[in-house]
Amino acid sequence: LHTEMVRLDRLNLVGQMAAGIAHEIRNPMTTVRGYLQLIGEKTQDMGQKSTLHFMIEELDRANTIIKEFLTLAKSHKPNYQVFNLNTLLQNLHPLIEADSFTQNKHIRFTPGDIPDIGISPKDITQMVLNICRNGLEAMSEGGCLTIQTYKKNHTVVLAIKDEGHGIPKELLEKLGTPFFTTKESGTGLGLSICYKIAKSHNARIDVLSSPEGTQFLISFPLQSMLISSD
Ligand code: ADP
Ligand code: MG
Repeated sequence: LHTEMVRLDRLNLVGQMAAGIAHEIRNPMTTVRGYLQLIGEKTQDMGQKSTLHFMIEELDRANTIIKEFLTLAKSHKPNYQVFNLNTLLQNLHPLIEADSFTQNKHIRFTPGDIPDIGISPKDITQMVLNICRNGLEAMSEGGCLTIQTYKKNHTVVLAIKDEGHGIPKELLEKLGTPFFTTKESGTGLGLSICYKIAKSHNARIDVLSSPEGTQFLISFPLQSMLISSD
C-alpha cells in the first residue's frame, strides 16, 4: 500500500509539472501570436500575409492541444447538480446546429422521458460537444446526427449516433488513448476527456460502429452523484 501511494504521488507530481509547464507556455505563445498578427496587418506582401496567417493557425492548433491537455491533466472537482439531460441538450442544440449548418449536415434530437440525475453540467456539455463534433466530422454532406435520451433499467442513456465512415474494429480499443487520432489536424484528446468525465460520473461509454456509422452510448447511473461527490 505504501509503495502504491508513493507511486501515485510521483505520478501526480509529474502531472502537476506538465500542467504547470503547459500553462506557462501559453503566455509567450500569446505574445508571439500578437506580433504575428501585427506584422500581418502591416505588410502589403500577399505571400507574406498568407504565411503569417498559416503561422497563426498553427499557433492556435498548438494552443488547442495545450488547452485540452490541461483539461485532461488537471484534477478538478466536478460541480454536481441535480439536472435533466434533456435541458442540457436543449440548451446545447443551437451550438451543435451551428456546427452542422456550416457543414450542410443535420441534427435530430429526440428527448425521452428521463428523470433528473446528479451531473456536472459543464463537464457533460463538454463531453456531448466532443462526441457530436467527432460524429459531424465523420460524416459527409447531408448526413444526420441523432441524439436521443431514454431510461433503461437503472440508467439514463444518452445516445449519439452518426452516419459517418465508422471506426475500424482494430482501432476501437484505441479510443480514449491520449493523442490517438486519425485526423490530419486532430489532437486525439477529445475522447480521453470524455472518458475522464464519464469516470467521474460513474458513467460508462459504449461504442458501436460499422461502415454505416457510429453510435456512442453513455449510461449514467440513476443513483445521484450528489451523494458520492464528497
Ligand atoms: P480527434 O477528434 O482530435 O482526432 P478524438 O479523441 O476526439 O480526437 O477522437 C479520436 C479518434 O477516434 C478520431 O481521430 C477518429 O479516428 C475516431 N473517432 C472518434 N469518434 C468517431 C466517430 N464518430 N466516427 C468515426 N471515427 C471516430
Ligand atoms: Mg475529436
